[in-house]
Amino acid sequence: ESLINRIAAGEIIHRPASALKELLENSLDARATSIRVAIKDGGMKLLQIQDNGCGIRKADLPILAERFTTSKLKTFSDLSRLTTYGFRGEALASVSHVAHMSVVTKTKADTCAWKAYYSEGVLVPPKAGQTPDPKPCAGNDGTIITIEDMFYNTPTRLSALRSSSEEYARILDVVTKYAVHNPKVSFLCRKAGSPTPELSTSATSDVGQAIRLLYGHSIGKELLHVESSCRTGGSSSRDTSAGDPDDSERWSAEAYCTSPNYQAKKTVFLLFINHRLVESSSIKRAIESVYSGVLPKGAFPFVYLSIEVDPRSVDVNVHPTKREVIFLNEEVITERISDAIQQKLVGQSH
Ligand code: ADP
Ligand code: MG
Repeated sequence: ESLINRIAAGEIIHRPASALKELLENSLDARATSIRVAIKDGGMKLLQIQDNGCGIRKADLPILAERFTTSKLKTFSDLSRLTTYGFRGEALASVSHVAHMSVVTKTKADTCAWKAYYSEGVLVPPKAGQTPDPKPCAGNDGTIITIEDMFYNTPTRLSALRSSSEEYARILDVVTKYAVHNPKVSFLCRKAGSPTPELSTSATSDVGQAIRLLYGHSIGKELLHVESSCRTGGSSSRDTSAGDPDDSERWSAEAYCTSPNYQAKKTVFLLFINHRLVESSSIKRAIESVYSGVLPKGAFPFVYLSIEVDPRSVDVNVHPTKREVIFLNEEVITERISDAIQQKLVGQSH
């Protein structure tokens, strides 16, 4: 039973960076405006994330790490919509099966913070002889999640990891991408004990500004802003929220991509679908082919692309390991976005 849970958890949590991605999404879902990450040994020894979001109610702590426990159901009208959006209540459960996990959390309504320890999906005592109940402690509004000794009980996962510096680089990459996508949130990422953070942002005006800050001047000065959308599903005067079949045809996209003056050795592609960082080799290929018309051979762009579609039309489970995503009308939408980028690029060269 516990071995099966562990294997299942390992399918969701592959490495420290994939755990961190889930934790970042949770903090952002909790409407945090400040997110601080501390790392030891590439996240294998310690992965800690602190946010100033809404916190977790004490009453919810006993079931927090149970599979399929999610507080995000109420946002969506049905479960199929929920699961396709990626809210499955599996992240914390999975972490608790492959690492030591503790939570310190405080809601605005609480007078103190609560600390709880988890293992294999349930609350556990912090020390032998103690009870597993959450203990009161000092703390700010928000949540601190501490993950220690990742994969201590899953040697195959552990042995598949790279060096701690490589794992750290992946963590930094994930934080950087979420920081770009959430310019109004301040992010900090540092190695535990190090006085200077590797990454530190304060709220900026927009995504373009965040790219300039995080990816540097040479990209920043060549950025083109592209928007594209389609709103075919009924007019705003009509309530179409209740399962209108046309819903899935409404979408919008925003891109920041470099002009042909910028030439990199490989494409840097940041793709967010409904605010989740995902991968799509087909969309990436489509955009690269637009650029192949304006860039010399062997030169590649930087592209940030955020697409919003009806959550019911997204399937993120095609390839759990890679977070490859597919969605309804993907080809049409990709073509429209490619066209919009192409037009911007052509406009540039005149
Ligand atoms: P999901 O995000 O799919 O709901 P998770 O396992 O990631 O599932 O998280 C389980 C639940 O724990 C969330 O639904 C949320 O209620 C709560 N939670 C997790 N992290 C935070 C956080 N940083 N702030 C507030 N609530 C959180
Ligand atoms: Mg989550």
